[in-house]
Amino acid sequence: MRTRLVNLRVAADDRAGHGPDTVPAEILIEGEKITAVTGPGERAAEADERRIDLQGQLVLPGAIDGHVHFDDPGFTHRENFETGTRSAAAGGVTCIVDMPCTSLPPVTSRANLDAKLAVIEPKAHVDFMLWGGVSANALEREDWVTDLEDVVSEGVGAIKVYMLSGMDTFRDLEPARIEAVLKETRRLGVPVGVHAEDRELVLGLTERLMARGRNGPLDYAASRPAAGEVSAVSTLRDLCRRTGARLHVVHVGSGEALDVITAAREEGLPLSGETCPQYLEFTEEDLASQGAILKTAPVVKTAADRDRLWAGVANGDIQHVATDHAAGEWPDEKHTGSIWTDYGGVPGVELLLPYLYSEGYRKGRISLGRLVEVVCAAPAAFFGIESRKGRLAPGYDADLAVIDEDDSWTVKATEMHNLNRYTPLEGKTLSGRVTSTFVRGQQVFSLGRDGSGSFGPAGSGRRVKRESRVDP
Ligand SMILES: [Zn+2]
Repeated sequence: MRTRLVNLRVAADDRAGHGPDTVPAEILIEGEKITAVTGPGERAAEADERRIDLQGQLVLPGAIDGHVHFDDPGFTHRENFETGTRSAAAGGVTCIVDMPCTSLPPVTSRANLDAKLAVIEPKAHVDFMLWGGVSANALEREDWVTDLEDVVSEGVGAIKVYMLSGMDTFRDLEPARIEAVLKETRRLGVPVGVHAEDRELVLGLTERLMARGRNGPLDYAASRPAAGEVSAVSTLRDLCRRTGARLHVVHVGSGEALDVITAAREEGLPLSGETCPQYLEFTEEDLASQGAILKTAPVVKTAADRDRLWAGVANGDIQHVATDHAAGEWPDEKHTGSIWTDYGGVPGVELLLPYLYSEGYRKGRISLGRLVEVVCAAPAAFFGIESRKGRLAPGYDADLAVIDEDDSWTVKATEMHNLNRYTPLEGKTLSGRVTSTFVRGQQVFSLGRDGSGSFGPAGSGRRVKRESRVDP
């Protein structure tokens, strides 16, 4: 089946750094793959091709959200794979990478991975990869190295560990144990993503604040200061030096922690970092006014941190942007009566691309090329799928996000498509709206005139496996 998308624009390949951001184009698709991206009318029409007129809209490679918690199976009162991947499709995200820790069983062995796959595969609306993980629970088993080898050979995108975890079913690792994991992952050629906060510091501060009866949003912020991220990232830098293993800091929220990552990269260490829209948009003042809706770990910080993170997204100090999509059961789990017990996490997969397009590109903070880099090409490279996803080019999967650049719209949680609908971005007006999404040539989402979404069938999304080894 041949398809020709016509009357559209794509990001200009503007190596000189000037000229228009976008150029008119046509995209030719055969089956699941892009066969050509050309100027309008450059290639003669084939007799049997289907034509789709996109009315001048912008087409970007589908976004890859490398950090989501879709909670399935095990915590499906929070999210499930069907609603999570629908939400992804509605936001122009064509591939998600699901975390290993927020499902039961967690993805720490082949048997667990198979059990999870059997549940989630029939529900997927977009392509997906899995993170594997090593928890203290897993590492205390004698055969943990075999389990790790097994999940790597199953094609997980990367391995997740925590320096500070709030989960009994996926406990954190002290640095000596992380070093043992890194020796294996280096040998296996797979990167490791780390939740980097200083355990002793945060738990000590939390205990003291709770003992004094403090339980407001700013007390929560005080329990997780920037120093906690800086200290943990510095430990990871040292582990990186000692082992040579490829390490990635997930959800960086501190500008100073980003400075440590940047200095390590200048030293030639294989350390990278990601941030999330919440750290680019909000500060402690917003946490004080929004309360638990904006509770995340790490916590949002100051305007200076926010500005440093935006600068990092623009200049390459931050390698990619993901959402850490993690919804609590709404409204109960966000209104427990104390910030300490309120659920930490925000759903965001649907807003990743619209947020960065509007607040990054359209506000002039990042170029369109940089937008494509941080949500398409760089995550594809990190997860080892760079030969088939993350670019609009012949031979690549026809994964596309179509954006109406003239539409501005207001974020409303009730109109999102994930299971528990709340967002700290409620009421924000964004420029540019995703109107349709294609995964491997099939339309999986289209936005109706009344703002409602139509979706393709569940189960059309496919598992994607890591294809390349990491060579630090
Ligand atoms: Zn997370």
